Amino acid sequence: MSQEIQDSLLLFREIYPEIVEFLEEKKTPKFRIKQIQHAIFKEYITQFSQITTLPKHLREELDEKFNLETFTLIEAHKTSEITKMLFKTFDGQFVECVIIFHNDNRRTLCVSSQIFCAVGCKFCATGATTFKRSLTTKEMVEQLVFAQRYLKNNFEEEVTNIVFMGMGEPLLNFNVVKIALQVYNSQDYFGIGARHITVSTSGVLPKLKEFIQMQEQFRLAISLHAPNNELRSEIMPINRRYPLNDLMAMCDEYVALKNKRVSYEYVLINGINDSLNHAKELVDLMQHRLAHVNLLMYNEHEFSDYTRPKYDTVMNFFNYLKSRGIEVSLRKSMGKDSESACGQLSGHAQKEKDKKNAQQMERSTQAVISY
Ligand code: SAH
Ligand code: SF4
Repeated sequence: MSQEIQDSLLLFREIYPEIVEFLEEKKTPKFRIKQIQHAIFKEYITQFSQITTLPKHLREELDEKFNLETFTLIEAHKTSEITKMLFKTFDGQFVECVIIFHNDNRRTLCVSSQIFCAVGCKFCATGATTFKRSLTTKEMVEQLVFAQRYLKNNFEEEVTNIVFMGMGEPLLNFNVVKIALQVYNSQDYFGIGARHITVSTSGVLPKLKEFIQMQEQFRLAISLHAPNNELRSEIMPINRRYPLNDLMAMCDEYVALKNKRVSYEYVLINGINDSLNHAKELVDLMQHRLAHVNLLMYNEHEFSDYTRPKYDTVMNFFNYLKSRGIEVSLRKSMGKDSESACGQLSGHAQKEKDKKNAQQMERSTQAVISY
């Protein structure tokens, strides 16, 4: 068996260990796994009985013994810019992912990696919420299966880009995220180019090191949000553990290794990080680095007293960066319909559950929409 086929089967085993075990026990030939793999990842089947290349008795046995999917799709809510998909997990939690319809025909899927987040950034709705758990490999894979199926069936389209900007800190679930990255990227699975897949992190340095050493050319986004160590520690507690200098050194290492720019997310919060002094500090930090700054406006929510800056303040900040030659983009507004749709969808689906889940996703939709 070639190395490539072996690697591909290893990935399949990571996602569906119980199926592989079952087939091995029955001494089913290896090519059957390839057929199942093809049916799941290229045809987006919903039941084993649809895999017509398999003998009928095997299909029936598989359907009897295993659930192909762990998610139940509760709702797919479409606005002009996005579709939010809400899933119920096997243990009764809710997870969302968002498809963003860009004007240039890109279709970006924003995936979640955890249910809530333990990092606790002050401006983030999940910061105020108890972390539930990390997503499993299957759950990471299923977000893309459902999105592909939805796009194919409704629009004859497919996901072209992925960003890890949903709920959770991907580098705190890195064992699983690493496999998901390979499954998203591998030609035998979804075949999405590594350059079209972005991991966003608050800066979990040991795992970030592992990430940048992966051989594929995945892209990196950093949730920066402050231009100096002191302020960053105040609003992002992870900075006390992994300070800004070390984070920037790691980003420089990424650039040296991959020759790719790093995206820095900077959410402008009224009176906290939005002054011209902050802009100057940010310019100093970014100058001479291969960097792109993605400015976002703070989304207000009930778990924090922070507010969104005035439009003029935002524009002054943006223009200052631009005038100093920094590559910068600004998401002015998401469009009313998608903003309200984000809230509405999860708002009512999760009425009895944690609303914060939804608010986190609303945030990341804003972050991701400029990708
Ligand atoms: N944990 C990772 C991945 C989540 S990405 C990370 O932090 O990078 C979610 C994005 O939404 C991050 O850039 C985050 O900083 C941003 N965000 C969080 N709360 C926000 C808010 N209230 N308004 C706007 N953006 C917010
Ligand atoms: Fe977690 Fe990212 Fe929110 Fe910080 S910004 S609490 S790391 S999801």
